[in-house]
Amino acid sequence: MVDYLIVGGGIAGLCFAELCLQNNKSFRLITDDSQNSSKIAGGLYNPVILKRFTGLEDAGLQLDYLDEFYSKIESRTSIKINFPLPLLRKFFSIEEQNNWFQAADQPKLAPFLSTEMVKKNIRGIDAPFNYGKVLRTGYLDTALFLKSYQNYLGEHNLIVNETVDYSKFVINDNEVRYKDISARKVIFAEGFGIHANPFFNYLPLDGTKGELFIIKAPELQLTDIINTSVFILPLGNDLFKVGATYNWEDKTDLPTSEGREELVSRIKEILQCNFEIISHYAGVRPTVKDRKPLLGNHELHKNLFVLNGLGTRGVMLGPYSARMLFQLSENDAEIPMNYSIRRFKKKNI
Ligand SMILES: Cc1cc2nc3c(=O)[nH]c(=O)nc-3n(C[C@H](O)[C@H](O)[C@H](O)COP(=O)(O)OP(=O)(O)OC[C@H]3O[C@@H](n4cnc5c(N)ncnc54)[C@H](O)[C@@H]3O)c2cc1C
Repeated sequence: MVDYLIVGGGIAGLCFAELCLQNNKSFRLITDDSQNSSKIAGGLYNPVILKRFTGLEDAGLQLDYLDEFYSKIESRTSIKINFPLPLLRKFFSIEEQNNWFQAADQPKLAPFLSTEMVKKNIRGIDAPFNYGKVLRTGYLDTALFLKSYQNYLGEHNLIVNETVDYSKFVINDNEVRYKDISARKVIFAEGFGIHANPFFNYLPLDGTKGELFIIKAPELQLTDIINTSVFILPLGNDLFKVGATYNWEDKTDLPTSEGREELVSRIKEILQCNFEIISHYAGVRPTVKDRKPLLGNHELHKNLFVLNGLGTRGVMLGPYSARMLFQLSENDAEIPMNYSIRRFKKKNI
């Protein structure tokens, strides 16, 4: 019998797998390719919601843990995935500059918003009102994380590539059986795929589709991340990742012409140079209306757990949320209400 069966090999499931390895817990992870949010994500981490100038809850704590956590993963796989990089917000007016400096005075935002105006001549971008700089930012190469970590699990016979058939679970108080796997506990981390999960599909995970591009722009000399209505992230070799759109209606992971037009027009607001679209991706983010994660265990089957709702911020929330869930499972540590599924009561169980 293994300690854990983990369903889902996106950021959430892999973070939990890493905690199992760190704590000598045995596990198997089952995943398929039905969701691709983690695979195609921008991968940015940024403690401030720039549109509204709000600091994210627990941002400092999440960032402290993020550095430590992903560097352990890098040592495990010997592959670099975490790239700290300055994030610049281009100002479009004096008013935007003023708003920035007012926000930078607030105690919650002060650790993350630099009070120095960045005057930079970036070839390809015209910025007469200069830039503001967000501190403690960067990006995780999520595609590489998934590939390298899943390979590592494969080499140690810890991963099974298949779609889970929920009707095959046999649940007892001290054991859950799934086909030939027997586990003490199950962690469900299927992202938007939660809708097929009969134990947790009552949770209000609505999903937000996002589209992004890889573009080639040889004239653009950008080495930092730029963030305005879209982000532009330098990948090297004249390639840049640009995203993302937000669509609350369409729940498919197919790139659309509307998404394409929206991204092109947003890019043109920022870049004054030519660019070529190299690839176009789409995925559904596992978002919840109140923008908070979904962590906890099932009311009746206490050995079934859910790790979901990472929304638009899987890179920062993944390690932090996985640790909270691990501590609930192992030490009965209480999950704060704003991370917990207890804020959504299931009717009729
Ligand atoms: C366009 C876009 C841009 C984004 N940019 C950023 C960003 O810059 N920064 C950031 O932090 N976040 C970003 N995100 C959000 C981020 O991708 C998510 O928060 C994160 O990937 C969620 O991870 P997850 O593991 O919960 O879900 P997923 O990535 O969806 O992983 C779930 C996994 O479970 C598998 N699965 C589902 N059902 C089953 C089943 N029945 N059997 C077996 N396997 C199953 C799926 O195939 C998948 O592998 C972005 C998302 C999108 C779409």
